Amino acid sequence: MSFWRTLADLLLPRHCVVCGAELDGTEQDLCNVCLCRMLPVTWESTTDNPLLRALWDRHDVEAAGSSFYYNASSDFHNVFIAIKYQGCPKLGERLARLSFPVWHARGLGENADYVIPVPLSWKRRLKRGYNQAEWIARGVADATGIPLCLDVLVRRKSNETQTHKSASQRQENTRGIFVAKRGRTNLDGKTVLLVDDIMTTGATISDSIRALRETFPTVRVQVYTLGWAGER
Ligand SMILES: [Zn+2]
Repeated sequence: MSFWRTLADLLLPRHCVVCGAELDGTEQDLCNVCLCRMLPVTWESTTDNPLLRALWDRHDVEAAGSSFYYNASSDFHNVFIAIKYQGCPKLGERLARLSFPVWHARGLGENADYVIPVPLSWKRRLKRGYNQAEWIARGVADATGIPLCLDVLVRRKSNETQTHKSASQRQENTRGIFVAKRGRTNLDGKTVLLVDDIMTTGATISDSIRALRETFPTVRVQVYTLGWAGER
């Protein structure tokens, strides 16, 4: 623990986003006790699991996985709120770096040429200052050595907030909002690992896949999300 970190913590104590305990110099955003209590997703198959089944056309996806259960009524909900809205994207990066290797060992990301985060619209990114999915993707890239690709998938518009929308309304709300650009990176015949923060209905991820396929018909897609909001 550095002298300056200790001094900074004395002057301005930092607190765990879940339990509120004061953090020591080695901890960031989340205390080690809460980190150990986060509920890991228990499915093990990358080719037959609830996330894959929730995508519009699961046959379009080679493999998928997710690290932690997300439940809006649990205290651990705060982890995702902090990552997404409260300026703690590095927590997402750290959790992905720690947890993705479990899925990598099962084959997720194996042979992947690029990690691609689901993008935010430029307007929302400007307002928030970061894209949480990009930080999670950085954690995955860091853990595996697979390069990030940030110049292909683009969000054309901010859709309305997805909260309080049904699954079919979400699908309608997100259809056509992503576009994949032909530019420096050619994804024809490549395998990409698409990364997002939380998977709920799969509408956002499905539309990202549609956009990738429309521009690069031979791209192979795998999916990883840090949180899984569906069935246990
Ligand atoms: Zn805690």
